[in-house]
Order: sequence, then structure tokens, then C-alpha cells
Amino acid sequence: MTVSTCVSAAKNGRILIVGATGFIGRFVAEASLDAGQPTYVLIRPGPHDPSKADIIKSLKDRGAIILHGVISDKALMEKLLREHEIEVVISAVGGTTILDQIILVEAIQAVGTIKRFLPSEFGHDVDRADPVEPGLTMYLEKRQVRRCVEKSGVPYTYICCNSIASWPYFDNKHPSEVLPPLDQFQIYGDGNVKAYFIDGADIGKFTMKTVDDIRTMNKNVHFRPPSNLYDINGLASLWEKKIGRTLPRVTITEDDLLTIAAEKRIPESIVASFTHDIFIKGCQVNFPVDGPHDVEIGTLYPGESFRTLDECFNDFLLKLEDEQELEKNKVSTKTTAVVEPRAVTATCA
Ligand code: NDP
Repeated sequence: MTVSTCVSAAKNGRILIVGATGFIGRFVAEASLDAGQPTYVLIRPGPHDPSKADIIKSLKDRGAIILHGVISDKALMEKLLREHEIEVVISAVGGTTILDQIILVEAIQAVGTIKRFLPSEFGHDVDRADPVEPGLTMYLEKRQVRRCVEKSGVPYTYICCNSIASWPYFDNKHPSEVLPPLDQFQIYGDGNVKAYFIDGADIGKFTMKTVDDIRTMNKNVHFRPPSNLYDINGLASLWEKKIGRTLPRVTITEDDLLTIAAEKRIPESIVASFTHDIFIKGCQVNFPVDGPHDVEIGTLYPGESFRTLDECFNDFLLKLEDEQELEKNKVSTKTTAVVEPRAVTATCA
């Protein structure tokens, strides 16, 4: 069955988010709740570790409706989509289960009433970017999902949001969970290749804006806010300004990144191959956004601002200060603990 491409998702239509306990999916689920959308989240059957259980509880407390299942179960997905009258499906499954989305697309196609599907993209335009292995394998899988979505006739949007706002560690797939360096900067190549760094909350917020926008139907939506375009030298200077001191800079060469990629350690080598593609080859900036299927988010929503990288780095500074305060308290508690026995000893004497 082919779904009409003329139908746009309704405002306040029911949204199903897959992968809401994950790094990117959580931003999307929170933004959906912030936008007041009826938000359903698909959770894989447990047991869940305490941090995932906390995320599920907090989404539920905010009004999300929890459904249980996996996207590779076609019959179950069809049943859930029909029973809950879902209009929009957003997937943020991780790198190891990208191809499971093909079964999800089959379920969406069979149901026939889904007005928009956003597959798990949330990075580069995978038809244009060309990383070395093992990153390439993930892109080949994402391309396979794209072709399957396009063939299905289900209206889609591909979110190409570029990098998350943080220091782009070459071996960490979720770098925004880590503070920028405090000892030395590792600069990729000459450090002059630019990339876009987007706050996680903005990835969620702007993704939600696209789901019922006719202008984003069957389009690649590129996130290119000028305020968030930096090269890694500029990123280092920004962080130095925040912490009030300069740090040594060491060069990670193109060959270093290729060597780490070739080691095929997962996920580090995948991240190294993307780092090479971004900071050596310039995959985020080496093409104009002017194809028939391209739209730029700032052009779509000119009145909406992105959080700047400067603001995002202020958040890291606050986090650093909190950690230092905690460390100070730990030291002073330890000192108290040492003092107390002495006092007891003195009393006994
Ligand atoms: P995570 O591994 O953090 O989370 C994946 C989520 O998907 C989890 O909630 C997981 O559930 C769920 N999931 C996985 N398989 C299934 C399935 N078969 N059925 C139902 N749920 C499933 O993923 P990331 O957030 O790292 O990645 C999501 C997307 O974002 C990817 O496309 C990735 O390439 C991209 N990305 C972009 C970044 C950027 O800087 N632009 C950075 C990181 C990722 P469970 O909790 O049970 O494991």
C-alpha cells in the first residue's frame, strides 16, 4: 500500500518515539512533551538499569505513554500503531540496530495512516558524507533504510543535525556527557576545518517543528546555524576563555585517526572515522544546501534562535564548578573524619 504524500501530520497528532531512553531519543521525547504533543514512547522489555528506569519514570511523570516492544516485531508494531492511532513515528535507535528499522517501515506501510516517519539519522547527510570504515558500514545501513522508506511511499523527514554541542572527543560517541579537556587539547589536523555544533535540546526542539511542516516532507533538513559554526582551534579558544587559562595543544594527524579507525574497536573506531570525515575532510561544510530535497532549518524558522555554543560551554563551566565544589566537600568531609578520631583519642586519654 502507498501512503499519500500530500497528507501533512496534524498539530497535536499522536507521536511515537522509539529510542527515548537513548542519548538522542531522550532529547526528542522531552521536546515532544515540551511541545504539548501526545507522546508515546516505545521501551524495550526490561530489566532496565537504574539510569534507564529513571529516564522512563521521568518521561512517564511528564505525561508520556509507555508502550513496550521492539521494532523488529512487525505484528506488534502494526498493532501498537493502529490501537494508539499514531500519526508520526520518530526513531532514534542506536548504531547497532539501524537495520531493524526496515521492519518498522514495513509495519508503518501496512498500517497506512502514518503521516510522517523520521528514521534514526540525527547526524550527517549520509548520502553525501563518505567516512572510512567502520563508520561507512553504519552509513550504508542508514542509506539502506532511506531507500526502503522512499520506496514505501511513507512521507519522511531526514534530520541532518550535524555534531552535538561539546568537545568532539574522537573516541566517545556521546561527547556532550563529558566536560571539555582540562589538561590538553587534541587538535585534529590543522584544526581549521569547520563544523556545526548543536545543543541536544535544540536537536529535539527543531526536530519536533519539522514533523507537521509540509515544507519538510520528503526532505533532508540541515541544521546550519551560523552562531554554531566553529573549527576545533576556535572551540579550544572558547573553552580557554571560559576556564581562564590556556592549555597545551597536541596534534592528532589524519594518519592517527585513520589508524584508530582501522583498529575496528567498536564504538571508538566508528567515532574516529566520523571525526576524520568531519575535521579532516569537512563533510559538514563541503556541499551547498541547494538540492531539490534539501532545506535549511534557519530558513524554515527564521524567528527561532539556537542556543549558541558559547551558552552551551557556559553549561559545561557550571558543571565543572559543581564537580569542583563536590570534590572540595568530599575533601573537607574526609578531613573532618580524620579530626574526629583524634578528638576521641584525646578524650580517652
Ligand atoms: P543509543 O544507543 O543511546 O540509544 C538507542 C535507543 O534505541 C535506546 O533507547 C534503545 O533501547 C533503543 N532501541 C535500540 N534498538 C531498539 C529496537 N530494536 N526496538 C526498540 N528500541 C530500540 O543511541 P544514540 O542516541 O547514540 O543514537 C541514536 C541516533 O543518533 C543514531 O542514528 C546515531 O547515529 C545518532 N547520533 C548522533 C550524534 C550526533 O552528535 N549528531 C551523537 C550520537 C548519536 P534500550 O534503552 O533498551 O537500549
